[in-house]
Amino acid sequence: MFSYISGMSLYLDNMNKNIAPRILWPLIIASCAPLLFIIKLPPKMTSSSIALYLASLTGYAGLMLLLWMYVLGAKSVTRLFFKDLAPVLGVHKDLGKYGSIAFLLHPVFAVYGFFTPSLKSLTYIFLPNTSSLIYRHIALGQIAFYCIAVIWVTSIFFRKRLGFRAWKYIHYFAYFSLPFAILHVPDLGPQFMASRMVKLYFLAIAGSFVVASLFRLSGWLNLDRKRYIIVNHSKITDHDFMIVLQPTTDEWLAPEAGQYVYVKQGIISEDHPFSVTYYDEESGELTIIYRYTGTFTRYLTGLAQGEEVSIMGPFGAFTQDIPEDGQQPVVYLAGGVGVTPFVQRLIDNRRDQSQLLFMANRTHSTAPLVRTLKKALGDRLVAIYSRDMPAGAGEESGRISEALLRKYIAAPRSSVYYICGSEPFVEECKRILGRMNIAPERIRQEEFSW
Ligand SMILES: Cc1cc2nc3c(=O)[nH]c(=O)nc-3n(C[C@H](O)[C@H](O)[C@H](O)COP(=O)(O)OP(=O)(O)OC[C@H]3O[C@@H](n4cnc5c(N)ncnc54)[C@H](O)[C@@H]3O)c2cc1C
Repeated sequence: MFSYISGMSLYLDNMNKNIAPRILWPLIIASCAPLLFIIKLPPKMTSSSIALYLASLTGYAGLMLLLWMYVLGAKSVTRLFFKDLAPVLGVHKDLGKYGSIAFLLHPVFAVYGFFTPSLKSLTYIFLPNTSSLIYRHIALGQIAFYCIAVIWVTSIFFRKRLGFRAWKYIHYFAYFSLPFAILHVPDLGPQFMASRMVKLYFLAIAGSFVVASLFRLSGWLNLDRKRYIIVNHSKITDHDFMIVLQPTTDEWLAPEAGQYVYVKQGIISEDHPFSVTYYDEESGELTIIYRYTGTFTRYLTGLAQGEEVSIMGPFGAFTQDIPEDGQQPVVYLAGGVGVTPFVQRLIDNRRDQSQLLFMANRTHSTAPLVRTLKKALGDRLVAIYSRDMPAGAGEESGRISEALLRKYIAAPRSSVYYICGSEPFVEECKRILGRMNIAPERIRQEEFSW
């Protein structure tokens, strides 16, 4: 069944990159909508009864949104439905930003509804008290509240300053908060105790959490990954490395050109995405080129031939709508190691005159695969060096600019553009293409971060 669902989603994803948000947001709204019918309006409209009603509404909606965040952050689950994870992670991020507001408002309404408003009553939000069963349930909710509050404040105000890894670990608090938020409801929520439908809604949330956690567990235990052996590992530029991975069984991953996989080693390991530079259909071997950037890629540099890694995927639909008939001029704009998703297509279709590659690098010694690609593409490769002088035909110094693109692209308005690299590189290329009046639907992008 999973493969059927997954097959259907591939089709949808290929048609439109925005399909994931268009499917997910209505589903998310639909999953919260029953609350408007099952949470009973107060018989008497007083400020505290309205506050209690809103506390229930925001509490259950917050719980549902947190569950969605948990599910959409789990590759083990989302890979069953979506081919490209980037737009799904976009919804996950927006949920974190805006969905948490419901979660944070819940205790404010609850305190207002249950207690006479005063400075002292505010302590019920902030200070745990374990003197009775009810207070212990409130304390569980407070733990969940603190977790979400920390993530929300750090994500909104300190995301850039914190750096990627610190933010990522703080953001795991959301997952920690969900079981506490779930346990906080029974024996406490008046709507839960009074209504069978609310109980059912709650059970659906708790059950989905358990199922999603089992999927996550399978991911941690590498059950949804394939094992590969490193058969070659070499340094190819000043800071790029090439790894060739051989599958350990006949059941290997078969990525299409431009797709990426997640690489992990062992059980307690981070897993990071890397485009498949080359996939050999005959042997199942995958070639990955990675740039030494930080902790994980430094760790990768230490892996030796013969060691095993676990690979998950393939993901992505970046270059999959490129027509194969060679009738459509295609321009690839690659910043540094951002050339990797283009390599297989360029090499396999080396005679296809409709393909033009611009490779932007600092120097010749930092440009991955430039010689191989030059050999395959000839004058359809333009190499641009920001810190080196051009050394021959088809080389330029400086940066990608409108004048440079116009110099090489015969029909800019009827070409399609594929941009890949760091976020600033992608943004700069999009600005230039915008100035050249290239229609946005002719531009595709893949950023090497999210
Ligand atoms: C779809 C995709 C394809 C990629 N393909 C390649 C490739 O072919 N070759 C290559 O060298 N790099 C590729 N990257 C980038 C690569 O994943 C990061 O450089 C790497 O994860 C950095 O990890 P680090 O710990 O070494 O560095 P850090 O210093 O920790 O990270 C540097 C930056 O990488 C990004 N990053 C870190 N971890 C992750 C993660 N788990 N998921 C997404 N982004 C992350 C963040 O923006 C971070 O600021 C790709 C990224 C994506 C999203």
